[in-house]
Amino acid sequence: VRTKLPSVGTTIFTVMSALAVEKNAVNLGQGFPDFDCDPKLLQAVTAAMAAGHNQYPPMPGILPLREAIAAKIEALYGHRYDAGSEITITAGATQAIITAILAVVRAGDEVIVLEPCYDSYTPNIELAGGTVVRVPLTPGTFRPDFDKIAQAITPRTRAIIINTPHNPSATVWTESEMRRLEQLLAPTDVLVISDEVYEHMVYDGAAHQSAARFPGLAARSFIVSSFGKTYHVTGWKVGYVAAPAPLSAEFRKVHQFNVFTVNTPMQHALASYMVDPAPYLELPAFYQRKRDLFAEGLAKTRLKLLPSTGTYFQCVDIREVSDLGEAEFSQWLTRELGVAAIPLSAFYADGFDQRVVRFCFAKKDETLRSALDRLARL
Ligand code: PMP
Ligand code: GLN
Repeated sequence: VRTKLPSVGTTIFTVMSALAVEKNAVNLGQGFPDFDCDPKLLQAVTAAMAAGHNQYPPMPGILPLREAIAAKIEALYGHRYDAGSEITITAGATQAIITAILAVVRAGDEVIVLEPCYDSYTPNIELAGGTVVRVPLTPGTFRPDFDKIAQAITPRTRAIIINTPHNPSATVWTESEMRRLEQLLAPTDVLVISDEVYEHMVYDGAAHQSAARFPGLAARSFIVSSFGKTYHVTGWKVGYVAAPAPLSAEFRKVHQFNVFTVNTPMQHALASYMVDPAPYLELPAFYQRKRDLFAEGLAKTRLKLLPSTGTYFQCVDIREVSDLGEAEFSQWLTRELGVAAIPLSAFYADGFDQRVVRFCFAKKDETLRSALDRLARL
């Protein structure tokens, strides 16, 4: 087969989850909760199905859900999107991202990604015929380096993909960093794909800096989020994209032939459940407690913790505990100690190894304790 994606294999998340199952390891690799969602949300699905919401919904998603999203974004970030023309329901953030890219990136266009970055971005750009321009986040701190970003912008730059809170580093962009980006892009027509799937997971009093808060960014951004993350239902694959009407119109041209629509009963359930802001407003405290429980245990090992101010990930430096590279260490940890992790090198095109691995702490306390028992040897 003349492959279109020669450098792509099976994702690291699938590989490590399969190994975790095979070795009966505690799976702190792939990011997903091991606990169930609010029973009220499940009841809302059953109710939606029983009420006959089982046929195709409108192409951009059901209006009550889009209205609930518009209301939430306005309440939290102060920008009003028109539910009719500016919000589209997608099959998870994954589809939102690839559809946005396919909608705006033409052959030969350059798209800037900040490495380390989520693994779907670069194959998506390549599928669109675009050229990936990789700009490293500052080594060690993972902060954006605006001089490097500025140098990467050319007349062919079509878009930049940003992600805050950031997978895998667990850093959160500050207001001044978002302003720097806004200023940097002001004289250009570069679009932004802002991956904000962890928007409700910020800790230690940090605030999520949505692109929606910054008028100069909102006007050029596809803002992407995911109900899978927010409501502990990663398997539902429901997310959304918010973008100005002309960008949303282009997005929908592709969306209608990509998936056409996203499953109906889940949309109805989410629309009614979302009216109550408590579940997402409580999320920082809920996850901060888990982060702290996990970090306290890790502090007793020779693993060195990197700061985690957002997402449900905790990165650790493995230098003191092993001479292995990250990928080998992750395999060893899964096979020998029974705890699966993800090597950060999986988020770099060249496999850059900085001796750091990522754990997911979106787990029951008992799961975290069981992992910590196993990690105590380190
Ligand atoms: N972007 C980032 C940064 C993610 O971590 C994930 C989930 N792994 C996604 C996008 C995809 O989200 P979804 O499951 O809603 O497709
Ligand atoms: N977003 C999750 C992670 O980073 C995994 C999603 C996937 O398996 N593609 O771990």
